[in-house]
Amino acid sequence: MKQKKIVVIVDEQYDFCRGGALEVPGATRALAGTCRFLEQFKDDISRVVLTADWHPITHCSFVKQGGPWPPHCVQHSHGAAIHERVLQVLHRLELPYEIVTKGKHRDQEEYGAFSQPRKLFEGRDVWIMGLAGDFCVMETALNLRKSNPARLTLYAPGIGSINAKNFNRLVEEHTAPRSKFRLFKNS
Ligand SMILES: [Zn+2]
Repeated sequence: MKQKKIVVIVDEQYDFCRGGALEVPGATRALAGTCRFLEQFKDDISRVVLTADWHPITHCSFVKQGGPWPPHCVQHSHGAAIHERVLQVLHRLELPYEIVTKGKHRDQEEYGAFSQPRKLFEGRDVWIMGLAGDFCVMETALNLRKSNPARLTLYAPGIGSINAKNFNRLVEEHTAPRSKFRLFKNS
C-alpha cells in the first residue's frame, strides 16, 4: 500500500503574509499553492503539522534587542495567528492537524521547528512548504532530516522566500540526484 503523506506547513501566519510586520515576498502565492496541495492530495494525507513562530515581546531577534527583524509573531497577537485561508481549507477537508510553536525563549532564535528528532516522521513520506523558504522552511527541513523520514520533499509552489536566490542556493546545496531530500517544482 502506498504510504500516506505527512504535510508540514511552516509559519503561514499573518505577520509573514501580505501587509504583515515581516511580509515575505510571494506569500500570497505560497498560501494558494499550499491550499491547492491540500485539495489535490486530501485523500493521500494522514496528518498535517503547522508550525508557528511564537515570540515573547522582548525576543532577541527583534531590532530593539539588537536582532535583525522587526517585531513579529508576538505570542497571542493577531500577526501570530495562522492565516485563515489555510485553516479554512483544513477544516473543510476535515484534515487532522496540530500546531507546533517555536521561538518561545527570549534569548534564543529558532528558525526551525523539530530541533529534536521525532518518531512521528521516521520512515514517512514528508512534504514541507510555507514561509520563509530561505529561513524557517529550510531550517525545519534540515531538522526534519534528523528524524530519518523515508523521503523529504520541499514543495516549491507552496514556498515563499525573503531572498529566492538564497533559497535556490540552499536547495542546491542540500539536494542531490536520487536524494531522499528533494525539491518538487511543478504545481
Ligand atoms: Zn521569528
